[in-house]
Amino acid sequence: MVFSLWVRLSLAPVTGHQPPHELNSSPAMDFSLSDQQILIRDTVREFMHTEVRPHVKEWERTDHFPVDAIRKLGDLGCCGMLIPENWGGSGLDAISYVLMLEEVARVHTAMSTALSVTNSAVQIPFLSFASDTQKSRYLRRLASGEILGAFCLTEPAAGSDAAGIQASAVRDSAQYKLNGTKTWVTNGSAAGVYIVFAKTNPAAAGKGITAFLVEPSMPGFKIGRHEDKMGQRSSPSVEIVLNDCIVPCENRLGEEGQGLKIALSALDNGRIGIAAQAVGLAQAALDESVKYARARKAFGKSIGEFQGIQWMLADMHTEIEAARALLYNAAYLKDSSGSSSLAKGGSSSSRAKLYASEMANRVVYKAVQIHGSLGYSRESDVERMYRDARVLTVYEGTSEIQRTIIARDLLRA
Ligand SMILES: Cc1cc2nc3c(=O)[nH]c(=O)nc-3n(C[C@H](O)[C@H](O)[C@H](O)COP(=O)(O)OP(=O)(O)OC[C@H]3O[C@@H](n4cnc5c(N)ncnc54)[C@H](O)[C@@H]3O)c2cc1C
Repeated sequence: MVFSLWVRLSLAPVTGHQPPHELNSSPAMDFSLSDQQILIRDTVREFMHTEVRPHVKEWERTDHFPVDAIRKLGDLGCCGMLIPENWGGSGLDAISYVLMLEEVARVHTAMSTALSVTNSAVQIPFLSFASDTQKSRYLRRLASGEILGAFCLTEPAAGSDAAGIQASAVRDSAQYKLNGTKTWVTNGSAAGVYIVFAKTNPAAAGKGITAFLVEPSMPGFKIGRHEDKMGQRSSPSVEIVLNDCIVPCENRLGEEGQGLKIALSALDNGRIGIAAQAVGLAQAALDESVKYARARKAFGKSIGEFQGIQWMLADMHTEIEAARALLYNAAYLKDSSGSSSLAKGGSSSSRAKLYASEMANRVVYKAVQIHGSLGYSRESDVERMYRDARVLTVYEGTSEIQRTIIARDLLRA
């Protein structure tokens, strides 16, 4: 059903700005895209350039969360890309998913963060752990984009150390009572369902965590303060306060004690999404830099004629291609084995996330340098990209945590 939308859209005339660079050069492994993947990439690219690009500056300046634009992407099938069609999703592969996120991040990184959380961190756990009743109630609406999902693990005193969360859930016959505070909840001001992690057995540490599907209308649920962020200002990050929040037992996701397993598998899947954001954002910074290097004159020449600028551009391009190869490899492994890390005993999604997020920061640094003082002005796109990129090495597992995962995998006997 959604696929027919992709086909229909492909027949629409292509108008508007076309990015100067072809996105996909081929890594050594055969990553040539199928006709359907090309159609998805081009459709999202066209949508972002016509419907979103003209508004990005204003949205970022006013901290506007573009829910309507996200819903339109939902109509195109972008809100439930990895979910089978019988549950209302597009039933697409991980390569299609990362292509979509790259294209979104290339224009508006904040939107790609919202899409990454709802598509992956929230919906993937439904596939493995939700009952059919839970899927009927929430997954269909999430996958169509009717509602957005939010993922509530982090707390003021526990981020990387997920087992250290303090939120509690106490069972009382047919319901649980949840107490605690969650921070940095992406989509938190506008979600229809929240996966909340809380301890049902504090003595069991990580093994005592349980996941719950919480609706904002449930008694005791409150949206708290909004974070005043450095970048990605169009993507809301909020505090969620649970004060004797009543959640029926039928809204427990999985079994008691399975929460940490659910959270870690969601994050593992989410990492390829962050790598895709990083590649898309870096590509946009390179595109802007090439344009500027051609246009800006100094000492009677285009600055692109100076070797110092050329070498920066060459390094940016090379690093983006290296990150893209890691990203597509991780997506390919996910498609072929069901998991980007665990099933192959590898840490491909961590490697892609680590390298791509750090690469994006090096690339935006150079993009600002190439733009000179303009790069330091809110007038330029690279100024926003510089701020937007910074969080990529922090959320969904910091670079230090990715290195720990990769090294643990290497050293495993
Ligand atoms: C914009 C944004 C959106 C977010 N969205 C969400 C969301 O939707 N849901 C959610 O639950 N969370 C979300 N987060 C939270 C994010 O996942 C955490 O910030 C991240 O996991 C790091 O946790 P922390 O900030 O508490 O840092 P800490 O864990 O306190 O880490 C501080 C520093 O110590 C280092 N460190 C910690 N442990 C180790 C170790 N074992 N070895 C080496 N170094 C270590 C870290 O790498 C870091 O450099 C978001 C954060 C941001 C900024």
